[in-house]
Amino acid sequence: NTSSTPTPPPIPTPTTEPISDNTIPGKIEAEDYTAMYGIDTEGCSEGTLNVGWTNAGDWMDYNVNVQSAGQYTVEFRVAAQDPTGTLELRKGGTVLGSVIPPNTGGWQAWTTVSTTVNLSQGQQTLRVYLTGGNVNINWINFTTSSSTPTPTSTPAPTGWTLVWSDEFDGTSLDTGK
Ligand code: MG
Repeated sequence: NTSSTPTPPPIPTPTTEPISDNTIPGKIEAEDYTAMYGIDTEGCSEGTLNVGWTNAGDWMDYNVNVQSAGQYTVEFRVAAQDPTGTLELRKGGTVLGSVIPPNTGGWQAWTTVSTTVNLSQGQQTLRVYLTGGNVNINWINFTTSSSTPTPTSTPAPTGWTLVWSDEFDGTSLDTGK
């Protein structure tokens, strides 16, 4: 047995940071973005981290895997002091839905605001875009939303209505009238 040059340890493959696979339905931690503009993170009173230091035009991108196409309720866990604007959920250039963050009276005073969005199936990038600021975000939760279509009501008839009746006393049609 001859001595040989030790095999160097394999060079680890670079991984996309922080999280590249968020499953929907499911909860996405706001700090688990794959790209962002203008924000920062801090320790959250509810655990994990929250996104903060938000201003109009800031955004975070999330790699998500939507299990099935359909309507989802999306909840934003937010804390805000004198917030402005909205939180938009975007895909590409399309605004899928938005919420107005309320003034919760403190940077760690958390509440949940929600809206519904329609998502397509599969791996995709969703963006949370801030049209305003002064809002912290802890997580975003997607749950399936039963999109029972609103039944279309029959319009009320106007004027005369023709009604079929089985009341027929005669023995034949009176064609003279
Ligand atoms: Mg968080």
